[in-house]
Amino acid sequence: MKKQCSECKKEMGLFSRKIKLNDGLLCADCIGLIKKVGMVDIIGRMANIQYQKVKEIYENKKALAERFEKDFQLGNMLIIDNTNQLLVIDGVLLEFKNLKDVETKYQYSESVTTNTNSKTKKGIGKSLMGGLIFGPVGAVVGGMTANGKTKSASQTTTNTFCSSAKLVLTLQNYYIAKYYIDLNVSNSELRSVGCSSIEEYGELLEAELQQIIENTKREVI
Ligand SMILES: [Zn+2]
Repeated sequence: MKKQCSECKKEMGLFSRKIKLNDGLLCADCIGLIKKVGMVDIIGRMANIQYQKVKEIYENKKALAERFEKDFQLGNMLIIDNTNQLLVIDGVLLEFKNLKDVETKYQYSESVTTNTNSKTKKGIGKSLMGGLIFGPVGAVVGGMTANGKTKSASQTTTNTFCSSAKLVLTLQNYYIAKYYIDLNVSNSELRSVGCSSIEEYGELLEAELQQIIENTKREVI
């Protein structure tokens, strides 16, 4: 039996790109439309949502997307429309009033490198590798001779780096309560917003969103 797209009724083959809904399917073209109106957040959850609900969210977002006028942009992650009280974060279109809270979450990992040198350098190496947050923490191990010179030494350097960064949005009057945004952006994206680390970028995004939340609260009161 041939399968059909719930929206455009196009027939789909076994290998056609499609997304399952709770009670139907969407074809690649219709998924493209959904992405265009800032519904990226819904794509991972389609299997739990009924076609009628998806359609309803789509109509709502489409109306908002048509109104959208850019006032401010931060890198590729955040676009703000103050006039219509809208924002696009990581491709997701939201109304200011949908934002309830925002926080950033970071996970750190360590990598340990050991260098064996025949000569001891003064102090611990100062060179910083790209992506390091904390300077290298090292320990010089080796036999010191009476005159303070070292015959052989090995230097262990522990590098702590941010292995995962997420922006967590708590939402209200919206069809999902939490949305997680991956902040693993490229170095050129970081440079474009004047940040030297993911944490700095996360802080910047969090501050912008907090401000929206505060301002929106004030207007409601
Ligand atoms: Zn379709």
